[in-house]
Amino acid sequence: MTDERDFCEARFDRDGVTTWELRSIDEILGMDPRPTLRCPQCHGQFRAHKAGTTGQRAHFEHRKGHAGCPLKPGTFNGTPSRHPEALD
Ligand SMILES: [Zn+2]
Repeated sequence: MTDERDFCEARFDRDGVTTWELRSIDEILGMDPRPTLRCPQCHGQFRAHKAGTTGQRAHFEHRKGHAGCPLKPGTFNGTPSRHPEALD
C-alpha cells in the first residue's frame, strides 16, 4: 500500500489564534508560502508532492511514518494513536 492522501490539515495563525483547517492537495500546491501541514488522523507532519512525471498524482505523505495511523494502512498496527512528533 502506498501512503497517499488527497487531504491534510493546514495550520493558520490569525490574530494570535492557531487553527487547523482541512485543505485539498490542489489548494495547498497553489499556496505560497505553503502552510505547515499535518495528518488529519495522527497529527504527524505531512509534506505535499506534486504530480509526478510518471503518472503519479499529486498527494500528501507523512514526513515520518507512524504505525498508529489508520490512514497509512500498509503499516497500521490496528491501534490508532498520536504520532510521536504530533503537531498541535
Ligand atoms: Zn497519520
